[in-house]
Amino acid sequence: MQTHFSLAQLTDPDNRESEKILRACVHCGFCTATCPTYVLLGDELDGPRGRIYLLKEMLESNRAATPKLVKHIDRCLSCLSCMTTCPSGVNYMHLVDHGRRHIEATYRRPLMDRLARSLLAAVLPRPGLFRGLMLGAWVAKPLAPLLPARLATMLRLAPTAIPGPSAVDRPQVFAAQGPRKKRVALLSGCVQQVIEPGFNEATVRLLTRHGAEVVVVRGVGCCGALPHHMGREPTDRIRANIDAWIGEAERNGLDAIVVNASGCGTMLKDYGFILRTDPKYAGKAARVSALARDISEVMQELGLKRPAIATGLRVAYHSACSLQHGQKIHNGPRELLQRAGFSVVDVPEGHLCCGSAGTYNMTQPELAETLKARKLRNLASVQPEIIAAGNIGCITQLRDGADAPIVHTVELLDWATGGPRPKAIGDTDR
Ligand code: SF4
Ligand code: SF4
Repeated sequence: MQTHFSLAQLTDPDNRESEKILRACVHCGFCTATCPTYVLLGDELDGPRGRIYLLKEMLESNRAATPKLVKHIDRCLSCLSCMTTCPSGVNYMHLVDHGRRHIEATYRRPLMDRLARSLLAAVLPRPGLFRGLMLGAWVAKPLAPLLPARLATMLRLAPTAIPGPSAVDRPQVFAAQGPRKKRVALLSGCVQQVIEPGFNEATVRLLTRHGAEVVVVRGVGCCGALPHHMGREPTDRIRANIDAWIGEAERNGLDAIVVNASGCGTMLKDYGFILRTDPKYAGKAARVSALARDISEVMQELGLKRPAIATGLRVAYHSACSLQHGQKIHNGPRELLQRAGFSVVDVPEGHLCCGSAGTYNMTQPELAETLKARKLRNLASVQPEIIAAGNIGCITQLRDGADAPIVHTVELLDWATGGPRPKAIGDTDR
């Protein structure tokens, strides 16, 4: 694709990067067929190629974002299915991230939108605040029908019970069982530790049982993915995380930073790119990205123990977009589940997003609901006894309405190798 940035514009590193991305696109349109919003809406501007043209025009002209552009970019899930499909290696993720920052800097959204987005960006990354808000939402749930649609959706998505904080998420070291094979840091996360503290508990049990020493490093907080996808780069938070992890790596050594929420894993693996022009942090950020691993990658390296129980349960593995498209991890978790004694079945249209996509199910509730219903139909069609996924967002999105219990992949691996039965599965004969 030809581009028309001026020489002055190309002194900006973001423009230089976007120009390189745009030039790689040969506008073949292969990506449109696998784009969930194009599949639903059939509008070229709601597919990757149309969005690429809109972003090109906005960035080259350096004009403020228009309502039309914002509508189509806001509808993009950042699921990155288009990047898996693209034969030319177009890095749509970095282009749309640049576009979202430009929108944030140049476009004034309607008041309710501004309030909702500011609330999400301020509260979700802070577990204490988020827990307080969830308690408030739980009390206010019966009022949902009386509230504006956006607020009603947020209330509906609030969980019905808020577990207490888990001791696992405090800064500490968990010793490896048996000879130590690895020393890893665990990203405790933000939203997940409030809604599903059991996921980190299962992850620590699984890792230590397989010979990894696990450290929860003081000073690490939210990875920044949620505000990042809203065009608000949380660089101070990212730098604080980097300082904490690099400090730990230099003092005591680290073989990996383990992430069990794949949206966060995709973000960590991009820290090196996000801070590439920061003279003080570029090198350290690249080191953190090189250390970042999804839990399934680390478990493959450690080698899964023989299952302690043989359930033979039929598991539909839901491949989160941030894992399969963002990190190109698809077969690893399935192989681990099979090795753990589960019978893993493929889900039709497995490349399509479930509609969760960070805060998308709150900012674009209608499209998110349509995608959720489609995903639930596809899951039901393979008649699973359990659904497994590696991302809290998908699990929260699909739990309400799924025909089978939905759990994190680590909970099944932990259970099969000697841990407790996942609470979502409840009491069965197995
Ligand atoms: S598949 Fe790749 S090269 Fe083709 S239009 Fe889409 S982004 Fe451009
Ligand atoms: S990221 Fe997903 S929704 Fe956005 S253009 Fe690509 S395929 Fe479509």
